[in-house]
Amino acid sequence: MREVQHYTDRLFRFRVARPQALRFRFGEFVMNGLPNAERSVFRAYSVASPTWDEELEFFSIKVPDGPLTEHLQKIRVGNTLRMRKKPTGTLVNDALTPGKRLWMFSTGIAPFASLIRNPETYEKFDTVILTHGCRFVDELKYGQDLVAALREDPLIGELVEGRRLHYPTVTREPFKRQGCITDLITSGKRFEDLGFPRMGPEEDRAMICGSMAMLKDTKDLCLSHGLEEGANNKPAQFVVERAFVD
Ligand SMILES: Cc1cc2nc3c(=O)[nH]c(=O)nc-3n(C[C@H](O)[C@H](O)[C@H](O)COP(=O)(O)OP(=O)(O)OC[C@H]3O[C@@H](n4cnc5c(N)ncnc54)[C@H](O)[C@@H]3O)c2cc1C
Repeated sequence: MREVQHYTDRLFRFRVARPQALRFRFGEFVMNGLPNAERSVFRAYSVASPTWDEELEFFSIKVPDGPLTEHLQKIRVGNTLRMRKKPTGTLVNDALTPGKRLWMFSTGIAPFASLIRNPETYEKFDTVILTHGCRFVDELKYGQDLVAALREDPLIGELVEGRRLHYPTVTREPFKRQGCITDLITSGKRFEDLGFPRMGPEEDRAMICGSMAMLKDTKDLCLSHGLEEGANNKPAQFVVERAFVD
């Protein structure tokens, strides 16, 4: 373990040395566990760092009594993380056909922390909109720090200039933008706020990552706006991935 940072009593990030043989695509996940656990528990974790990074970053929930995270949240620099190094996932650029705008609809932001640093994302789409829905304002900080750091990023800072938008929303306390991601789409407010026409299959592509309920509602909205779901072997106009198993 190289670095651990706690954001709230529910969220933290950690960085580990990247196993040399590990190759992954932006947006994929691996299985993480801990050594010496009473029983071996592995859980899916989206890689939140870019593919060229010498370290791997993960952004994690802390579930009270969660079989993995009740222990993982106590991890310290120098401790060991176990990893099943078989990256996979559907939130990959390969599963989308090219378009004008890429909407990243997230309550689970980790895969987008990686994808938003992929130069190919900006080759494939003119504009990338990272939406991030949280319950409380302090849960937005990881995404806010990420977006601020992008501007200074020597590899893609110039590339993303003026082409990437950050749209955080909060549901349970006052914030400049309030409401669920799905409510904002339904009301059309998101599109008005950003000066875009309503979402449609010609120009818009979407990646969705959140709870089962969030996925279902957002997926239904994409379908009702005429977008088709894609997969690795059949690229189309939107893709979905669970942020956790309910
Ligand atoms: C494809 C995929 C990618 C994932 N990527 C990440 C990731 O990058 N970061 C991460 O923290 N988790 C991620 N998860 C969830 C992760 O696998 C574990 O569920 C989480 O680490 C908690 O593990 P646990 O054993 O402590 O509790 P679990 O027994 O796994 O979960 C207990 C309960 O906690 C809630 N829960 C679990 N994970 C979350 C979460 N992320 N957000 C909100 N509520 C949650 C759910 O209600 C769940 O039923 C991902 C899951 C999937 C399927």
